[in-house]
Amino acid sequence: MEEQEIDFERAHFEQHASPELQCKSCGESLTTYHTLNGEPLCARCLGQANAGRQGSFIKAVLLGSIAGTLGAALYYGISALTGYELGLVAIVVGIMVGVAVRMGGDEAMPRRLSAATCPIS
Ligand SMILES: [Zn+2]
Repeated sequence: MEEQEIDFERAHFEQHASPELQCKSCGESLTTYHTLNGEPLCARCLGQANAGRQGSFIKAVLLGSIAGTLGAALYYGISALTGYELGLVAIVVGIMVGVAVRMGGDEAMPRRLSAATCPIS
């Protein structure tokens, strides 16, 4: 069995963030950085972005709930008028809730949004 040679003559440095990389929000040059939607951000701006997203999550759930209530009324109205319980109406209600939650929410949190959308629908 042949052993692999270890190179002691040459140092292998880890790759650091390139010096021209800047925070997308405040423009500060970055040595270590976080990404949000593929944009580089410093830790401070990421914290601010996350605080903002918390608010929009609540807004998303609120808008979704309103759409869900309207959808339930629509579903009841149609079934009371026609006597049919249409699966298609339920699908439309689901779409209404999804659109409303997406309007209120941030596109960067799809997993939390879908978790919120399902019980509302
Ligand atoms: Zn920043």
